[in-house]
Amino acid sequence: MLWLRPALAVVLASVAHAHVMGDAVHDAPARRFAREFAPVRVALLRTAVADRAPGGGGGRSSLEDMFACFSPAVRVHPVGDVLRVESNGLPAHGMMVGITAWQQQVPLPQPYTGNNAWSIPRHPQPSPSPVSIQNRFLRGAIALAANGIPIFNPQNNRGEVSQDIGELDQWGGHCGRADDYHYHIAPLHLQETLGRERPIACALDGYLIYGLTEPDGTAPQGLDAFNGHVVPALGYHYHASKKYPFVNGGFHGVVVERDEQVEPQPRAQGVRPALAALRGAKIVGFEGSPGQTASRLSYTVNGKPASVSYAALGGGQWRFQFVNADGATREEVHREGERGGGGGGRDARKKGGGAPK
Ligand SMILES: [Zn+2]
Ligand SMILES: [Zn+2]
Repeated sequence: MLWLRPALAVVLASVAHAHVMGDAVHDAPARRFAREFAPVRVALLRTAVADRAPGGGGGRSSLEDMFACFSPAVRVHPVGDVLRVESNGLPAHGMMVGITAWQQQVPLPQPYTGNNAWSIPRHPQPSPSPVSIQNRFLRGAIALAANGIPIFNPQNNRGEVSQDIGELDQWGGHCGRADDYHYHIAPLHLQETLGRERPIACALDGYLIYGLTEPDGTAPQGLDAFNGHVVPALGYHYHASKKYPFVNGGFHGVVVERDEQVEPQPRAQGVRPALAALRGAKIVGFEGSPGQTASRLSYTVNGKPASVSYAALGGGQWRFQFVNADGATREEVHREGERGGGGGGRDARKKGGGAPK
């Protein structure tokens, strides 16, 4: 492939760069590796994966390559030291089915574009004081999946592990207060598109998150408390896990924390007030897909069928039609911006919020 050739040219530069970026603890194996092998051999080893090395410099980095697998739904623009990533926040796969703890939110497109796009560091920097995500960063995203869907802390904003309490669908996602779809665990199913050789996401510190194995299929060795480690060919990276923390258990790299979340990150935009939890509800069907402007979510309450249908009316207006389990119906029309700022994407109930109705 032609674009591999320029990648070869930057390999030596990126080897040097790795040392500049390295920190004493996590990058020590990389340094030993470099000392034990002649530079040429290191360069050749790195060539095979140069396109996947974060911040490789020339060619298409592994970060861009990962998002390119979901183009044009996901669009990237390198701007200085960051990669701007745009999407409408809706995945191509099914949504919502399987949720048994539901706050009546549904997936709506989100304006993660322009000034409200994601900003991913292209040259991640190890932090002098890495921070855990446990009971911290409970607002907003901690990572961004290859398909442009945010990944939130595996703990919801009340500190519960979402996956353990029925909040998540078959794909590991659900919607927040702004009807914004996001995952709370690693979307390993994206490997159907990505293959195991590519990462499935990147943490908001810029380090990549691979699946349960290394690109060659072998089990990751020597993971740190954040599910991360250094492999000479890849530098520092995280791995997904099937148990907590599921994704990056913290930030090895530098991030800015403000108001309980990583900044900068896009704001989800809601169109209607957040609703209460619906006890006994189980989501059984969802029709509608990205690009479609009409969707229908079916659920049962204690076995009785109910549904929410919604459609874009144009001009930023949405019509919602509710058929409740008791047979009552109602219709609401809401307009984008009506609800005001959506915050950094919040889960349905606030910490310490009122009891579910
Ligand atoms: Zn690894
Ligand atoms: Zn959530």
